[in-house]
Amino acid sequence: MYSTSYVDDIRQIKEENPFESMMSRFDRAAHLLALDPDLYAVLRVPNRELKVYIPTRMDSGRIQVFEGYRVQHNFARGPAKGGIRYSPDVSLDEVRALAAWMTWKCAVVNVPFGGAKGGIICDPQVMSNGELERMTRRYAAELLDFIGPEKDVPAPDMNTNEQTMAWIMDTYSMHARHTVTAVVTGKPIDLGGSSGRREATGRGILFVINEAIKRFKMTPAETRVVVQGSGNVGGIGAELLHQAGYKVVAISDIHGGIYNPHGIDIPDALRYLRTTRSFEDYEGVEFVNNQELLELDCDVLVPAATENQITSQNADKLKCKVLAEGANGPTTASADEILHNKGVFVIPDILANAGGVTVSYFEWVQDRMGYFWREDVVNERLQDKMVASFNDLCRYADSHSVDTRTAAYMLAIDRVAYDTRMRGFYA
Ligand code: NAD
Repeated sequence: MYSTSYVDDIRQIKEENPFESMMSRFDRAAHLLALDPDLYAVLRVPNRELKVYIPTRMDSGRIQVFEGYRVQHNFARGPAKGGIRYSPDVSLDEVRALAAWMTWKCAVVNVPFGGAKGGIICDPQVMSNGELERMTRRYAAELLDFIGPEKDVPAPDMNTNEQTMAWIMDTYSMHARHTVTAVVTGKPIDLGGSSGRREATGRGILFVINEAIKRFKMTPAETRVVVQGSGNVGGIGAELLHQAGYKVVAISDIHGGIYNPHGIDIPDALRYLRTTRSFEDYEGVEFVNNQELLELDCDVLVPAATENQITSQNADKLKCKVLAEGANGPTTASADEILHNKGVFVIPDILANAGGVTVSYFEWVQDRMGYFWREDVVNERLQDKMVASFNDLCRYADSHSVDTRTAAYMLAIDRVAYDTRMRGFYA
């Protein structure tokens, strides 16, 4: 049976672990849904976990054996979907939790995928391109029976990119004896990638913020936004918000941030960052550290850097009306209650940053049709999906009298549970 004491659970969990935060939210949502214990037992665990040992010929001529994983959490709604990360810190536990996270994220935006995640314990910083290619191809070969357009569709994640996806696609295709572009997403555009994929997560954030500010009867021009992070999500998100007329008053990278209450010229600041690799000495702004940045006076806060930024220690100091979670797990479960009591409107990560997986879904669809859409078509379809998902979530939260975080998990679990029940247990 699942726990009924959510509050006690979140007091006991270590705030540092975003995955335990996620699982405690799952338990709370399952409890509120009065989820059938059989469904609970099935959904809380993955469908399948693969551990593979990957012999790789290093440049020295010797073989090194790497350990890799692929966890497929759920297939009830379609093929499993999720990234592959390369890092010395990857563990099966982490990959298992991230796979479940993908199931809920795909369900909340209603794309017909389940969740998966993969990883290899390695340090890509000290590996040559050739070593990375040989390791990736052998990993893909080990997964041949388990991945595929109808089974499980990997994508890039930490320290992997479109080149990694091209190697996996090629390895899979060599064994299939024909080109199978739909086996991975996040590929180079020339090899079956989708227009708009690079900007999709930031663009998705813009679309949900557009909807959220309507609840406060605000217009973009009068909305002050603070963005933590200036990478794929934060940098592109800030640029698109700026273009849409929002007043982005602060932005940061790992070393710290810049603040100007009258607004920052984001394209110029990002050009400066690309050239000098730091915001240091950028003119006409005040410098803040990443902690101070989160507590700045603003209307919308977009944590788009890393996990565990908003905790029980600082949640009370946030001044935003809307928290749009660009990163995965930027808020701990213990901070949820504080934010709720303060009346902060949270757009939870599994919705706010789901623009990426949504356009990955579009990439898979385009690959299977062999027909590619113009970028404006991709963006328009992304907007439809994000706006509809935002409205579904708000309706669900209102009708169940729960906060948006809880609603996101309840909605996702409800969808997956319904489909599982309709298919019936093959048990
Ligand atoms: P990125 O590597 O492109 O950028 C990360 C940014 O955060 C950089 O500006 C970096 O300097 C900054 N940063 C890193 N560590 C920091 C720290 N400890 N404190 C403050 N700033 C820090 O990564 P990204 O692709 O933009 O991803 C950011 C987050 O969004 C991650 O949580 C990722 O899992 C999540 N996410 C990304 C996508 C995507 O499509 N890229 C999709 C969904 C979720």
